[in-house]
Amino acid sequence: MHFILRRVLGSIIPAMIYLDYAATTPLDQRVLDAMMPYFRENFGNPSSIHRLGQKAETAIDAAREKVAAVLHCQPDEIVFTSCGSEADNLALRGAMMARHKASNETWILTAKTEHHAVSKTAEQLEKEYGFQLEWLDINEYGAVTPESLSKAICSNTALASLMLANNEIGTINPIADLAKIAKENNILFHTDAVQAAAYLDVNVETLGVDLMSLGGHKFYGPKGVGALYIRKGTKLVPHMTGGAQENNLRAGTHNVPLIVGFAEALRLAAEEREDRTGHVQPLRDRIIGNVLETIPDSRLTGHPQTRLPNHASFVFKDVDGNLLLQLLDSAGFACSSGSACKTGNPEPSEVVTSLGYSRDWALGSLRITLGVDSTPEQIDSFLNALPALVEKARKLHS
Ligand SMILES: *Cc1c(COP(=O)(O)O)cnc(C)c1O
Repeated sequence: MHFILRRVLGSIIPAMIYLDYAATTPLDQRVLDAMMPYFRENFGNPSSIHRLGQKAETAIDAAREKVAAVLHCQPDEIVFTSCGSEADNLALRGAMMARHKASNETWILTAKTEHHAVSKTAEQLEKEYGFQLEWLDINEYGAVTPESLSKAICSNTALASLMLANNEIGTINPIADLAKIAKENNILFHTDAVQAAAYLDVNVETLGVDLMSLGGHKFYGPKGVGALYIRKGTKLVPHMTGGAQENNLRAGTHNVPLIVGFAEALRLAAEEREDRTGHVQPLRDRIIGNVLETIPDSRLTGHPQTRLPNHASFVFKDVDGNLLLQLLDSAGFACSSGSACKTGNPEPSEVVTSLGYSRDWALGSLRITLGVDSTPEQIDSFLNALPALVEKARKLHS
């Protein structure tokens, strides 16, 4: 597995060390192999009555069963979407509209640490659709505690949406505890597990969630495909109307090869979870230990232990994070920052600011995320290069 992917990356971008697996991952060769027949030979529309259509429909059914096996749910509780963002949109907008129709519940609870696919959707529901939105308190690690959720719930609360693992700072939320509180109070609970699914168990029974979003390209699957788990009995208003595909919740001809690839990639992620975790975690720990020791005015963002095993994220005081990324890119390292990349007028990331960092710290964020192709040699050369690049960015900043 490692060998196959390493060869792919090595031949495409030989001079680059990729440390940005939270942004996206390369497609696993085995996943591509599973997808290929559905581009040309088996190109039928799953909604067609004839045999070519049936063949495509069989592939979709098999993919749905594969996904259901990983999630420990029924196949008809899975809706395939065009990406993780769409799954988040369908969950929030669909659930709020359906719930509101059935009752007077108008409140959404979520947090500033959420991916924009959740937070911007919640903001739009407030601004354009007349719902009410409350941002839950987070702790210093960017996690939402059960107490914070409990105290915000009122009789008009409809839905809480809190992510399983944070894409920017790696922190894992106590989703089972949070979902339990939601259930006790008869409110719906959605979790964005798009970043988490590569490394964490996404069993909807142990998590206890009503809705859960996934996205293929974060776990070596293809881009442009995601899924939403919808617990039986949870009513949603479809946000894409037209044909009757996906239980009447998501119109549009199925993208058969991408759905096949999504399911195979998720199956492999579950099957190889321990190996993949065992591979990245020691490398991550070396990065965290080394950076905090060698770089002055550096802090780890997110939780030191309860975080994704492939995820290291920092802030450096008086550093322009985007400039640091450019310096790293020139030196051959592909990393990411937390801040929304607006050249000229950089704004610090809301996620990092919500942890309580002032602007002079929050602007200097750096995220390093590892994957199956990461090697100890790559980490050595990164750790050797970083201190001087941070110094250089500091000099250029002041
Ligand atoms: C990447 C990501 C998304 C968006 O997924 P897409 O498939 O790229 O639309 C949503 N939430 C989290 C936490 C993510 O990491």
